[in-house]
Amino acid sequence: MEAATTSNYSPEEIKQIRFEYKTLLKSVDMKNDTDRKNIRAAFELAVDAHHKQRRKSGEPYVLHPIEVARICVQEIGLGPTAVICAFLHDVVEDTDVTLEDLEEQFGSKVTMIVDGLTKLDKAFDIKSPQAENFKKILQTLTKDVRVVLIKMADRLHNMRTLGSMPKHKQLKIASETAFIYAPLAHRLGLYNIKTEYQDICMKITDYENYKMIANKLAATKVQRNAYIDSFIDPIKRELDETGLKYRILGRPKSISSIWKKIQTKKVPFEQIYDLFAVRIILDVSAKMEKRKSWLVYSVVTDYYKPIPERLKDWISTPKSNGYESLHTTVVGPEGRFVEVQVRSERMDEVAERGFAAHWKYKKMYSENVFDYWINSIRELLEAPSTDALEFVNDFKANLFSEEVYVYTPKGDMRILPKGATPLDFAFGIHTQIGSHCTSAKVNGRMVPLGYKLENGDKIYLTTSANQKPNMAWLDMVITSKAKSNIRTAIRKERNKAGELGKEALMRKFNSIKARWEEDNLNIIVKVFNISSHLELYYEISQDKSWLSNLKKFEVKNGKLIFIKKVEAPVNRPRISIPKHRKKAVDQPKLLINGENGEKYKYSLSNCCNPVQGDLVFAFNAVGAGVKIHRTICPNATSMMANYGHRIMKAEWASLNNIDFVADLTITGTDGRGVVQQLTNVITDLGIDMRSITMTGIEGIYEGKISVFVNNTNTLNNLIITLKQEKGVNSVIRTN
Ligand code: MN
Repeated sequence: MEAATTSNYSPEEIKQIRFEYKTLLKSVDMKNDTDRKNIRAAFELAVDAHHKQRRKSGEPYVLHPIEVARICVQEIGLGPTAVICAFLHDVVEDTDVTLEDLEEQFGSKVTMIVDGLTKLDKAFDIKSPQAENFKKILQTLTKDVRVVLIKMADRLHNMRTLGSMPKHKQLKIASETAFIYAPLAHRLGLYNIKTEYQDICMKITDYENYKMIANKLAATKVQRNAYIDSFIDPIKRELDETGLKYRILGRPKSISSIWKKIQTKKVPFEQIYDLFAVRIILDVSAKMEKRKSWLVYSVVTDYYKPIPERLKDWISTPKSNGYESLHTTVVGPEGRFVEVQVRSERMDEVAERGFAAHWKYKKMYSENVFDYWINSIRELLEAPSTDALEFVNDFKANLFSEEVYVYTPKGDMRILPKGATPLDFAFGIHTQIGSHCTSAKVNGRMVPLGYKLENGDKIYLTTSANQKPNMAWLDMVITSKAKSNIRTAIRKERNKAGELGKEALMRKFNSIKARWEEDNLNIIVKVFNISSHLELYYEISQDKSWLSNLKKFEVKNGKLIFIKKVEAPVNRPRISIPKHRKKAVDQPKLLINGENGEKYKYSLSNCCNPVQGDLVFAFNAVGAGVKIHRTICPNATSMMANYGHRIMKAEWASLNNIDFVADLTITGTDGRGVVQQLTNVITDLGIDMRSITMTGIEGIYEGKISVFVNNTNTLNNLIITLKQEKGVNSVIRTN
């Protein structure tokens, strides 16, 4: 056995594998000898099973499961069972080892988790739409959260080592991560992992801006640290006098979050003042943590003036992913805003490691926000047949949102996503209450059913047996539970109405001597372009005169035959050539999937306006030809994640002398004569303008300029030149 296991590893590799394993063992919290024995056995099995495989980088494959186990232990805080499962997570998928083998050796729990992980991998089959996969992930999550937590570690290691993959695979994995894993990590309270996911995604899809911010962070490090020191100094002196045990950290925010700020606030890097947050972590007993946190708050605000609306107390009411902390923003030296976060060591562990840490402290704290969340997922999954894509979109809308805390008339607290309405609340309590809800009172006052609930609202509902959901309700709710219930009710209602339509159609068939058969129904829906038989029945039930349309058919031996050659009312999607293209005949030259792009009918998408030189990909929009998008297109993530199989690699074949449209947003001060000034700069560079609009308030202006450029070099040159103009604050390319 030993000989077989090691035959494909070099002596150095065996040494490395053993070393990594030994290092990992030191950080595993083992309860007994069984743990030790099983971990050892799982390790040996993984080394043996993967001995023929190598990673893209050339390393022995088994280093991957070892590293995944290390992340599980050190970065998520999981225990021995997770280590065993992490070691084994790829063996069933990639080697001859079977689930039965695992069951025999490690028992049913480990087997169930490994099976869940294997199923998750299979879920990402290129042909199955990713929306289905998301549902599968949630299903495994409700069985044992560790399946998803280990998957998070697996994904993290794959992201960290993405460099050895071809570019288009990188893009696909990155978008899947941005679409599914990052929001889930957020929801499970794994903030560090979420942030790292997002940073790696940005590095792949938007390398230039990533690099720009990374460089600037490095260049300002010394200056920033000096500032943090001067900010912390007086607080430290004061805290030392109180005798509290604490530590203070001043860390920069992540690259992707800084970039998000630059874009939403439209200010350059240099003007983002809260590039870092100061965190004060207290070593106190559970009983004292809230009181002492407020003491620290009081010390901080004795020195620096707080901005009242930026005070967030997540200690009294934790976020529903378990996050607890006290946040405030104060005015520091030189008038700069500084965010200060105060929390206990326990809260910090929960914030850094999320779910796993929360488990550890579960016994200490009765209210378990995770249980609440997982229960709501379970309910949602059990809801009758929702379309997978609808499900995902609803769920995502709920995943990212903050919460409001509201109360039943009896005073029970309910957590709902921010923006939820009395209808959401009603469906949250029970489907029957939601479906029959007629009106709502909030804090004693009548409100519309679509009213947006606020923290502390007390809700009283009235219902009636005659009430039923309608289409308009869909716009009044935001929770997935309410949405899916309303949709189901409407569908049922339509099917019921459809029964009447069906009977009417049967009678009609009878009178014209047509046979009631599949073929006859099919030809009707085809000729009139109706999506299904059910839809046809519904149409007839709503308008009986529709049946006169059957005059267009002739009946021969019970068969319907279409007589008149009528153009089928199909709206064919047209590929429009954007009006602005000056030389509409010139197509930019592209290589799609490594082949000459002429093979495909392609066009540039209007949503992100690619310019020659941008990183792009091709999306096969069925029926509308192939569309070229920028990798940072706002729609890219959802396209790639949901329709990964329609993504093709695209590269500019050669730089041609063709005009592309690019839009810029410029902000600056003193708007007088600015249009003239900017127009001069642009025309001096020999660039044609398409449009320019300016808005200004109190000496600050924002301008939108649309220009024609040949390629990204010209465009970047223009941006740099504009930035150097007097009074110009920022220049950003916008979609
Ligand atoms: Mn793996």
